[in-house]
Amino acid sequence: MGVTVGYHRLLSHRSFRCPKFVEYFWVLGGYLAFEGSPIWWASIHRAHHRYTDTPLDPHSPRESWFASYIGWTTKGKYADHIRPQDAKDLCKDPIYQFLEQGGSWEKAHLLCAAIGTVFRLGLLACFGWPIALGCTAAGLFCLNVPLMLNLFCHIPKLGYKNFETKDDSVNVWWVAALTMGEGWHNNHHAFPGSARSGFKRNEIDPSWETIKLMKKVGLVSWFNEANPDSKAPAKVKPTLAPVAARTLTAVPSTHEDGTTKEQSEAKPRGRKIRQRKVREAVGARR
Ligand SMILES: [Zn+2]
Ligand SMILES: [Zn+2]
Repeated sequence: MGVTVGYHRLLSHRSFRCPKFVEYFWVLGGYLAFEGSPIWWASIHRAHHRYTDTPLDPHSPRESWFASYIGWTTKGKYADHIRPQDAKDLCKDPIYQFLEQGGSWEKAHLLCAAIGTVFRLGLLACFGWPIALGCTAAGLFCLNVPLMLNLFCHIPKLGYKNFETKDDSVNVWWVAALTMGEGWHNNHHAFPGSARSGFKRNEIDPSWETIKLMKKVGLVSWFNEANPDSKAPAKVKPTLAPVAARTLTAVPSTHEDGTTKEQSEAKPRGRKIRQRKVREAVGARR
């Protein structure tokens, strides 16, 4: 949940609002699961939504399955079109700034691994090896959750689409079961700013249920719940989207909270928007 509720739906999409201590609680859970710097994670993920399944996507399976799963994490630095400083909402937080280690992927990953290890050594000292080992296994499993999702939920033949999106995203039930509802990924790409990703009765979404529960007990002041009837339903079986025919619009500068207009869909009106558009023509897909 630290990954799904904290890093993803809260930090990356700002799909709900909560006090800072609640934010830190969820983010700490994700950080101790070896997810790395929150600024890094959110910047890469926002770029994924901005450039989904195009050559500028940080981890599309169109490049290669290996690159999509783990290969992209070894690149060592941000691509030129990904600017972590655009995530202004996160950059102004001194803790997130510290964890970002000046933008060095190597240092930030090492720091995260070191803090995660020290935490488990503490568990070992206080509660013994079964707890420490269990916590390590859980952390490594959670580390795999978003990596796995990046790959399997962008392979059309593995799932289904509820909505027509200009990308390869699909809903994959077994990924959703392993990822607290994140596997309803076509729904998520259709409504990236929504705190809710499961729309049909059988699309169980524990992360959304948790956010709703937090709202009920007063820990969340607002959330964005998409209206699935507002978008055209998918009519055809999922296939590779014709990305080669698309001209890409790179939008490095975004809303104050770092999300794009699309990602912030259905947020309250009146939000100050600052946009600088840089157009880039992208060559044909390999
Ligand atoms: Zn995606
Ligand atoms: Zn997302």
